[in-house]
Amino acid sequence: MSELSRWEDLFREGNLKELSLGAMKVTREHFGNSVFLRGLLEYSNYCSCNCFYCGIRRDNGRVERYRLDDDMIYAAVDSGFIRGLRTFVLQGGEDPEFGTDRMCRVVREIKRRTGDAAAVTLSCGILSRESYAALKDAGADRYLLRFETADTELHSYLRDGVSLERRLKALEDLRSLGFQTGSGFMVGLPGEDDELILRNIRLARKLELDMIGIGPFIPHPATPLRDAPQVPLEKTLLATALLRLFCPRAHIPATTAAGSLEPDGREKMLSCGANVLMPNISPVEVKPHYLLYPGKICLDEDGLHCIGCLGGRVAAVGRKLSFDRADGLICKRRDRVEAGT
Ligand code: SF4
Repeated sequence: MSELSRWEDLFREGNLKELSLGAMKVTREHFGNSVFLRGLLEYSNYCSCNCFYCGIRRDNGRVERYRLDDDMIYAAVDSGFIRGLRTFVLQGGEDPEFGTDRMCRVVREIKRRTGDAAAVTLSCGILSRESYAALKDAGADRYLLRFETADTELHSYLRDGVSLERRLKALEDLRSLGFQTGSGFMVGLPGEDDELILRNIRLARKLELDMIGIGPFIPHPATPLRDAPQVPLEKTLLATALLRLFCPRAHIPATTAAGSLEPDGREKMLSCGANVLMPNISPVEVKPHYLLYPGKICLDEDGLHCIGCLGGRVAAVGRKLSFDRADGLICKRRDRVEAGT
């Protein structure tokens, strides 16, 4: 039996103790005790898509919609940069007002203001290969596009007709253009069993991702999945530990959704192999309107103040915060192989 099959069996048995011990050994080998910070900026909650699980889906008429203007984005980046952040993640719905030209302008300006010392990560959904190429040319370093589930039928259903194939094609475009590429999935979607979670983890490994975001599915009351049962956080913790063992070099965030489900959910993810935290540096007045799921934490706090709080939480599990921009290890290795060094 291979090592990975043995870990899979421990996952099926629900043996969190063994899995997390193994995951932490691997995490320390590759990242030491560091937990890397990424400043998250939610620039728009308009979305032309209608994903069944998402609180800001197009058809949710109860959402108060907002868009940050460019100066608000730069002000948040400037404050974060002064505080020491060296990665900014710009996340929004698929919003036509933030077309390719505008996003390129924003990326260029962030790079200029930070003297190229900060990495820019984008998370703006599926775009054409040409748009991705333009964003790369403008200076974007990384791109996040979760596949959410490896099951083709469940994917089309949850994404209101968008196929998994289309999403994987977008990820391939991103990787071939030289982006550090991130994806991920939710744990506990309706219709999901342990074998599907294992397929999600195997797909993440196959995609050789630099970053993998996973988190518990939390049913939102204004979506078609409002009555779906809440799966306990433990399942996400088991998946996090197994993911670390399958993808030793990937950056794995301890997601806000875990902290929303249980007060120490992020610390628990850190103890299962996660190595990234993402303080939300969006202006406090818009934070309550970017609710992909209910019960989201830290809505009335300035993200920069969150950094102090996160430092304490990280120390409580024997780790330390790092402001390093921490580029993707897999991408770096790929570059070295291609350069023949
Ligand atoms: S998950 Fe993303 S693409 Fe889907 S509706 Fe929500 S914001 Fe839009």
